[in-house]
Amino acid sequence: MNLEALFKISHGLYITGARDTQNRLIGSCVDAVMVVEASPAQIMISLGKNSFTCQNVLTSQKLSLSVLPMDIADSIIQTFGMKSSKTVDKWSNTPYHLYQDLPVLNQASAYMTLKVVQKIETATHWVFLCDVQSVEAGSMAPVLTYANYQNNKRKEKKMTESKKWVCTVCGYVYDGETPFEDLPDDWVCPLCGEPKSVFVQE
Ligand code: FE
Repeated sequence: MNLEALFKISHGLYITGARDTQNRLIGSCVDAVMVVEASPAQIMISLGKNSFTCQNVLTSQKLSLSVLPMDIADSIIQTFGMKSSKTVDKWSNTPYHLYQDLPVLNQASAYMTLKVVQKIETATHWVFLCDVQSVEAGSMAPVLTYANYQNNKRKEKKMTESKKWVCTVCGYVYDGETPFEDLPDDWVCPLCGEPKSVFVQE
């Protein structure tokens, strides 16, 4: 069994918006979303049980969904995907507006509000079948898929990994904490004493 093969099933990336029992704005980043049918419009969405948003949607039965455009800032995905709304106000640093009293991203390609009509409990997730209450075109910009996101991450990682500055005189590889570009002009190679200018990027 090769679980990586599951990634061949394509997904988009989305941000959910909801309210907790104290009426605070919460939300999370999700990929498992599917349009079950268009008329009447129904959407299936899977949220991890550990997610604070999931726990609150179980009670409120309401959520919004913002479809992420390709040029969405990585910081937004990180905030909504890696942090918990229990402790962080994720919407405070994200340009949003209220749509039917739920937060949606200003930058969304499209956005909608959903009402839970059925739910299925799995080992780790709650799968919600929802009626689309209302849906609007946002920027309608090309959307980010989960595969795009992973590929971009891989590329970025490769780029940072390959950013090594090497002394062409002695072969010393710079590994200091300060980015090489930010070192003072009079900095010299700690091995051979040659100036910054003899270093090349590999
Ligand atoms: Fe050197």
